[in-house]
Amino acid sequence: MTDSSIYNESTVIATPPHIMRKFIVYEENLMDLFKNCPACSRHCAIKSRTVGTVLHVDQTCVHCEHHKQWASQPYVKNTPAGNLQLAAAVLFSGSSFLQVTKFMQAFNIQGICHTTYLKHQRTFLFPTINWQWKQHQNTVIAEALKGRNVVLGGDMHADSPGLNLQPCTTTKIAEDHKQQQLHGSSDGTCSIHTTEEKSTQYDF
Ligand SMILES: [Zn+2]
Repeated sequence: MTDSSIYNESTVIATPPHIMRKFIVYEENLMDLFKNCPACSRHCAIKSRTVGTVLHVDQTCVHCEHHKQWASQPYVKNTPAGNLQLAAAVLFSGSSFLQVTKFMQAFNIQGICHTTYLKHQRTFLFPTINWQWKQHQNTVIAEALKGRNVVLGGDMHADSPGLNLQPCTTTKIAEDHKQQQLHGSSDGTCSIHTTEEKSTQYDF
């Protein structure tokens, strides 16, 4: 399959790392680019190392002063973008880290270890999910306060695997803009409290 995209360096640099396309590059094909000195065309000494998914290459020419350090990925502050995005891709797609790791090992693609995956979850991904969820909640509440109808669904019970149903509280914004809290109880009743402190008891 061909792709007619034209490489434009200024565009690529301005593109956020998670938007940039990624390619599967074989090591020897990549190292071919560093074998010869761009200044004198003679052979260079090459050292390489990986940090998770990122490859660092040091190219040194023993015949002239040329020295080049190259990384296969941009960094997001001090974190290789590919390591962070791999963790995000596993988590946000609902995949299993173990299965993804097996796939990458079968393909012999450099990945990240489980410790790094958990660290990125804790440090970046979970806070991002919480932030996005709060943004979504604020948007929904702001739309509701504009007077749109709100449809509320739920049984005032929280389900947990292996545990009995637990009563819980649900909050909704009513059509008259009054905030209502619905409290479920273990005896099967539900009470509704509005912002005007009125309380009504319902049997279910
Ligand atoms: Zn040289």
